[in-house]
Amino acid sequence: MRQYPRSLNRLINELGKLPGIGGKTAQRLAFHVLSLSDREAEALASAIMEAKQTLHYCSVCGNLTDREVCGICSDETRDRSAICVVETPQDVMAMERIREFRGTYHVLHGAISPAEGVGPSDINLKSLIERLQSSDEVKEVIIATNPNIEGEATAMYIARLLKPAGIKVTRIAHGIPVGGDLEYADEVTLLKAMEGRREL
Ligand SMILES: [Zn+2]
Repeated sequence: MRQYPRSLNRLINELGKLPGIGGKTAQRLAFHVLSLSDREAEALASAIMEAKQTLHYCSVCGNLTDREVCGICSDETRDRSAICVVETPQDVMAMERIREFRGTYHVLHGAISPAEGVGPSDINLKSLIERLQSSDEVKEVIIATNPNIEGEATAMYIARLLKPAGIKVTRIAHGIPVGGDLEYADEVTLLKAMEGRREL
């Protein structure tokens, strides 16, 4: 990339750091950005900065929000007796799309992975325990981590942790292909997975 001006190299380099963007795509995107009007480029840059500056994690569930407590946690009509545990904020959005679950969520921001050195203390798990300890409203914890090795390990760990406290722990079961991502599951599949959850 030595043939490009320094600022163009910089743009290509930054775009290339995005997930799923290889060198060629980064170049294509960079040239697309250059073809934008000043106003369009400004809109893109300010959208990135605004998202970074206004979004953070909900102090209760860890979901993305632009408030202290997210819209789901602060919604009085949500069922406080069930918490659905997911890996990412994108998974919350996927679950919300099926409009079946009326409880609240807890976002782990990852999954336990001994192979990658990610332990229980590296994910947003402690705050789930604190949530359960500070309220006796919760009757069921539904674990909707991804159906892969890390997701299963996380589900088993949480089940073992919560069982002694007498909380019903269930795991979504059917429909999601093994190795698949919850985020990309279609709505019917996700609905079936929720309906078919089994106790751990
Ligand atoms: Zn929340």
